[in-house]
Amino acid sequence: SAPLLEVTGLAKHYPVRKGLILAKQVGTVRAVDGVSFALARGETLALVGESGCGKSTTARLVLRLIEPSAGTIRFDGQDVTGLSGAAMRAMRRRMQIVFQDPYASLNPRLNVAETIAEPMLVHGIGDAASRRRRVEELLSLVGLRAFHAERFPHEFSGGQRQRIGIARALAVEPDLVVCDEPVSALDVSIQAQVVNLLKDLQRRLGLAYLFIAHDLAVVKHVADRIAVMYLGQIVETASKRDLFAAPRHPYTRALLAAIPHPDPQRRGRVKPLGGDVPSPMNPPPGCRFHTRCPFAQERCRQEAPELRTLADGHQAACHFAETLPPAGLDFSGGLS
Ligand code: SF4
Ligand code: MG
Repeated sequence: SAPLLEVTGLAKHYPVRKGLILAKQVGTVRAVDGVSFALARGETLALVGESGCGKSTTARLVLRLIEPSAGTIRFDGQDVTGLSGAAMRAMRRRMQIVFQDPYASLNPRLNVAETIAEPMLVHGIGDAASRRRRVEELLSLVGLRAFHAERFPHEFSGGQRQRIGIARALAVEPDLVVCDEPVSALDVSIQAQVVNLLKDLQRRLGLAYLFIAHDLAVVKHVADRIAVMYLGQIVETASKRDLFAAPRHPYTRALLAAIPHPDPQRRGRVKPLGGDVPSPMNPPPGCRFHTRCPFAQERCRQEAPELRTLADGHQAACHFAETLPPAGLDFSGGLS
């Protein structure tokens, strides 16, 4: 069947101007630069990459919070790229977002019941009594108690606030929830609880997740498939199993090498990824990763690699994906 979400050639370019009057365009930030992927119902696709790689911009484009410079977004078979007005509002109800920072994303003046009911009000769903019943259902769904409805956000811990944010996202019964680093701001001890809640809700409600993260450790427990982004582009995509077992792109390998080993005795053998991400304003020519890649050759400086299919469902954008030495190599020499 058709995917729930299908994104093709999505781009977001921002002109950079200099001077206050008659500002002259001096460059273009290629925040997202030709991204394509599909997401099935009930599936979790993780978008992973360092800060500034364009993953949050991609999420905002999908939700139509910002307008794309190019590309199309199909949701449930319908092209939503040009939708506006009532048709867009109806579509928006079906895509919700859970934000990274549960402190910043909740209005401190609204109590929990008002917070969770707000999207229903915005979409004109139900009357006061039915919304109230729905709030109680949602509180129980996310593991909070009925008496929490009258409390205010500052009375909750970080993990509980994220549960409130999740209940709010689910209030209008979406098909897709964009999770923008939903556990990055939480204590490590709380992260697993929230991840488990999201997985449990997915099973019960058939939700699809577009799950944004800056490292691979978190998505190991939540993703079905993973797309790794670098400087506005997807450089590798595969099932979680294939990506962890046989990563093909040197950047993915570096991200994997940066995951701390569970055994503290074995930590420190592999240094985390070094070097700065180049600016998306003037991305390096050829392969955008060549300035940090230990395998870069002359060809990499000249020619941009296409995202190529290497095996069923496994794609990578590297000229040498088939011939690189096996994964598991030490990156500490090459990436700084
Ligand atoms: Fe490295 Fe070249 Fe592959 Fe780019 S194309 S990832 S620079 S080996
Ligand atoms: Mg972000």
